[in-house]
Amino acid sequence: MTGFIECIDIGKIYQGRTGAVEALRGINVACAEGEFVCLLGLSGCGKSTLLQMIAGLEPPSSGQIIVAGRELDGPSQATSIVFQDHGLFPWMSVQQNVEFNMKARGVKSAERRARAVEMLELTGLAGFAGRYPHELSGGMRQRVGIARALTTRPRALLMDEPFGALDAQTRGHLQAELLEIWASQRTTVLFVTHSIDEAVFLADRILVFTPRPGQLSANVPVDLPRPRDPRSAAFAEIAASLRAALGPEGGSE
Ligand code: ADP
Repeated sequence: MTGFIECIDIGKIYQGRTGAVEALRGINVACAEGEFVCLLGLSGCGKSTLLQMIAGLEPPSSGQIIVAGRELDGPSQATSIVFQDHGLFPWMSVQQNVEFNMKARGVKSAERRARAVEMLELTGLAGFAGRYPHELSGGMRQRVGIARALTTRPRALLMDEPFGALDAQTRGHLQAELLEIWASQRTTVLFVTHSIDEAVFLADRILVFTPRPGQLSANVPVDLPRPRDPRSAAFAEIAASLRAALGPEGGSE
């Protein structure tokens, strides 16, 4: 199998104070360019670890990760990561936060400003450039995190439970907006979640992880037209098959 993002026989062992933790074993993933893939599993089954390895922030203990045709040896220009806690700098305005990744990559200031304005518009934040993170709602802060990640024009957006801390209504809005951004920017998205409904709503394909050690237990394509209706029978059927794949502990949302 070949893909834009490829994980080949990935294993990860953390050396903790109480001994070694095998976080992942024998992970093989291939993701096509433009695909929206959710990594679904209970807490502790290695989803974040895999995402951080694909972001080049954490080395695998064994195996190979290839992004855009190159084996990773650190963060790739082709990817950008969005965290659950959005990772904004509280002392910087929205504009400065959104420009930060570009500044780190040496983009000139006029270009930075122009791209920031474009991404703030795309994420519904036009008019908030001068605000500070504490002046924004949780959903708006997460939009700033997404805008910032998009400014470097990544070919893949890596998202680690980005909506996990939001209330249900805000989460629903941001899911719909993310799908619009994905369609307009044609980025690949790898999205970590422990919510079955979120995965079925968003993904082209869902990779199901099971714990101790983290392994891939199922690869589920979601062949439903968008926008998807969580109350439809077809949606419920896929959700039920995922619940079964997650095992006896995975039944709840
Ligand atoms: P998930 O994202 O599915 O919740 P994680 O990737 O965060 O899972 O964690 C997988 C396993 O690796 C867990 O047992 C966790 O405790 C362990 N782990 C994660 N990060 C570290 C670390 N930096 N040091 C030691 N163990 C870790």
